[in-house]
Amino acid sequence: MLCSKPVTAGPRVLLVDDDAFAHRVVTLLLEEVHSPIVLEWAPSFDAGLTRLLAGGVDVCLLDFQLGERSGLEFLEVLAASGLKTPVVMMTAQADHALDVDAMRAGAVDFLVKGEFGAAVLERVVRYALERSRTLEKLRESEERYSLAISGANDGIWDWKIGEHALFLSARWKQILGFEPHELSDTIDAWFTRVHGEDLPRLKAEIDVSVAERARHLDCEVRMLHRDGNWRWVQVRGAAVRDRTGRATRMAGSLSDVTSSRSRDPLTGLANRVLYLDRLEHALVRARRDPQYRFAVLFLDCDRFKVVNDSLGHTAGDELLVSIARRLEKCTREVDTVARFGGDEFAILLDDAREPDGASRVAERIIEEVGRPYELGHHQVFSGASVGIALFRAGYQRPEEVLRDADIAMYRAKQAGRGRVALFDEQMHTRAMTMLQLESDLRRAVATNQLVVHYQPIVNASDQSPWGFEALVRWNHPSRGLVPPDDFIPLAEETGVVVAIDLWVLEQACAAAAQWRRDFPKLLPTVSVNASGRQLDRPGAAQAVLDVVARHHLPPSALHLEVTETVVMNHPQAVANLSQLRAGGVHVVMDDFGTGYSSLANLHRLPFSSLKIDRSFVKRLGSGDDALELIRAIVTLGRGLKLEVAAEGVERASQLEALQGVGCKLLQGFLFSKAVPAAEATAWLGARAARVAR
Ligand code: C2E
Ligand code: CA
Ligand code: CA
Repeated sequence: MLCSKPVTAGPRVLLVDDDAFAHRVVTLLLEEVHSPIVLEWAPSFDAGLTRLLAGGVDVCLLDFQLGERSGLEFLEVLAASGLKTPVVMMTAQADHALDVDAMRAGAVDFLVKGEFGAAVLERVVRYALERSRTLEKLRESEERYSLAISGANDGIWDWKIGEHALFLSARWKQILGFEPHELSDTIDAWFTRVHGEDLPRLKAEIDVSVAERARHLDCEVRMLHRDGNWRWVQVRGAAVRDRTGRATRMAGSLSDVTSSRSRDPLTGLANRVLYLDRLEHALVRARRDPQYRFAVLFLDCDRFKVVNDSLGHTAGDELLVSIARRLEKCTREVDTVARFGGDEFAILLDDAREPDGASRVAERIIEEVGRPYELGHHQVFSGASVGIALFRAGYQRPEEVLRDADIAMYRAKQAGRGRVALFDEQMHTRAMTMLQLESDLRRAVATNQLVVHYQPIVNASDQSPWGFEALVRWNHPSRGLVPPDDFIPLAEETGVVVAIDLWVLEQACAAAAQWRRDFPKLLPTVSVNASGRQLDRPGAAQAVLDVVARHHLPPSALHLEVTETVVMNHPQAVANLSQLRAGGVHVVMDDFGTGYSSLANLHRLPFSSLKIDRSFVKRLGSGDDALELIRAIVTLGRGLKLEVAAEGVERASQLEALQGVGCKLLQGFLFSKAVPAAEATAWLGARAARVAR
């Protein structure tokens, strides 16, 4: 046993007695027999308690009567403090009742003053010590026993705090692949096998449970197995405290939790931790062995969310398990198939020497995963997009390979469902630029680098002012004024467009309200572009109506321009547009002539006008049938009671042609390009003067 402290200087005995004479008697008795006992004296209740709590006392001799207070009370306080110092009670006369009371209160023995000699005193002290040591050992072995039965599979350790040696059970060593004699029973043998990244945490947790009574040790770390692999072990333990409450030993268990740490519980596939571990091994091997190559496949399943949302989690889980089994079918034993959570899977193709081997596996996976699934009474389909990253010399960490496979997967997804994309450097550069641009863009919105320019829209008949289209620009600190086509697509992809559109709307409504106050005869309208992302959220319509109301703008002064694709691809948008229409806001189908250009949509959806795209206007006068097409559109629009506008008017001939077919509103460089708000005000001012004349 590591725990019982050998007594070298003789037991330290504290006499708690308010009678100085009693102290003298005991001192003389001990001197008489040359006793090794070291006697201390505390002349009061409080002094005795203070001394005991300070620690280091082996046995306490306690007087039954301590001035006003009794020895029994002393025992109670002692018990409450948790101190386990054995106490021998001393009374003035033999009294069986007192004896019983004292024992009940926790005294280990009983002496009658004046009736004991040196030999008796010595023996009583020795017995008291013996008893308390036995009790302590019992506590220890109970603790160890309970730890032992806590899991027959667990290894046991027992450490006398501060010492180099410790007890490690045979099972403890076996967990790490060693025979009992092969691993020394030392702290070093343990700590040197703990993973460098985990060791500080283990030490810190041990310190905490030594310092704090209530804290038990429970810590998962990696330890090096004899076979060279890392094992996840759970280290549990508790401090054993001495009579003064100081932690003297720590004992606990060690269990191998590698499989629960490394497996995805649902599919039984490797989890991220295990995958990264294997990938790290592959990296190390590839660096050493030029013959060895590996590939990482990153997989994203489409339709999983749909199944989960429509058929429930159980069906979703079933689908994931089926996908997992099919992925295993497509790979070899040596490959690692892992699930990272959700519907993300990764595969490590070991020893992938052939350059197109990985692509072939990916194609097979897409085919296999794409076959129908039987889930209960339902037959469902899922597809997969796969990104591949092949080993390159530049890779340092497993996360980098995964990141590249992820980038490639993203590209595969963008190209359409069921595709494979192989990572290349260009993708990385592009991804980095995108990332940079995205963060720049977020900052631009936050720091007011965006500006709104306004392009006049005129009445076709006399080119008098009708309103403005608000068009956003990015006043980039180094790139200058960036046109929207260079950043709106990215903003849409990342969702930043929602903030941008709301900000533009705010500016445009403020400007329009001001113009309508300044030019009451012209009452210009304002047209604002809205992206699908903005309109696809519940509450989007109300948000727009709120802005309009806040600027005291009549809703009919606002024209919201949306493209047909927005309506087609964002189911929620239709409801929002209907709400806006009901609220009095005009809804314009933008870029008419591009995209689907389905007239059925025009009829079905809450549009109040349509804007012919400038690509159509451009073709005017080029000799093809553009004019006839525009005429047909205008006629149709009139039939559907839709106002028809045209954009991109650059030449007088186009103006005449559009006037000729009855197009009501025009926009284009012929009248003005988009200009800053102040210039737009000036433009209005000049025309207002003309109206007044
Ligand atoms: P759009 O809605 O089709 O806007 C009309 C575009 O045509 C504007 O380009 C305008 O400057 C340009 N344009 C107008 N007249 C002429 C002309 O006579 N000739 C030529 N060649 N071009 C003309 P801009 O400002 O670069 O905007 C491009 C696109 O960016 C817009 O196309 C719109 O889809 C988007 N956009 C602009 N502002 C916003 C915004 O605040 N939010 C959203 N979501 N998109 C916006
Ligand atoms: Ca527009
Ligand atoms: Ca357009």
